[in-house]
Amino acid sequence: MAEGDMDRTGSERSGRSKPEQRMELFHSRLRDRGLKSTSPRDDIARVFFELRRHVSAEELYAEVKKINPHVGYATIYRTLKLLKECELLTERHFDEDQARYEVAGEHHHDHFICEQCGKIVEFEDDAIERMQQDIAKKLGVVLTRHKLELYGLCAACRGPQ
Ligand SMILES: [Zn+2]
Ligand SMILES: [Zn+2]
Repeated sequence: MAEGDMDRTGSERSGRSKPEQRMELFHSRLRDRGLKSTSPRDDIARVFFELRRHVSAEELYAEVKKINPHVGYATIYRTLKLLKECELLTERHFDEDQARYEVAGEHHHDHFICEQCGKIVEFEDDAIERMQQDIAKKLGVVLTRHKLELYGLCAACRGPQ
C-alpha cells in the first residue's frame, strides 16, 4: 500500500469527497472563532486534506507553491497551527526534530518509521490494542490515548532476503 493511501473505512464514498467535507468543517470552525476564510488559507488547508499523509511544513509548502506561488512560509505555519486548533490536524513528532502533520479524525493507527529512508507506514493491530488495555487493567489505570512507534528498516531498505 502506498504511503498515505489509507481510505480503509470506504464508508464515505457517497456524495462529497472527504477533503471537501473537511473544508466545510474548517470553514464552520473558523466561523465559530470569528475568523474568515482567506484564499491562501483555503489553498493550504485543501492541499493538506488532499495529501493525507505525514507531511512536514516544508513539504506542504512545496506542494502549496505549485497551486499558489504567492503563499509564504509564515502563512503555512500559521494555517497549520489554526488547523490544529480546529482539531483537524494531528501533529506528530517522530524520532527527528521536524514535526509532521496528518489529518485528524482518521481511524486510530500506529506508525512504523524507516530509519534509513524515512518512510512512514501506518498499521493497526487488534491484539496490540487489546494488550494495552490488559496492561492498563493490571496497573489499575485508565488509558486516554497512546502512541506506538516502531523503528527499523522498511522492506525496500532491507533489500531482498
Ligand atoms: Zn526505508
Ligand atoms: Zn499516521
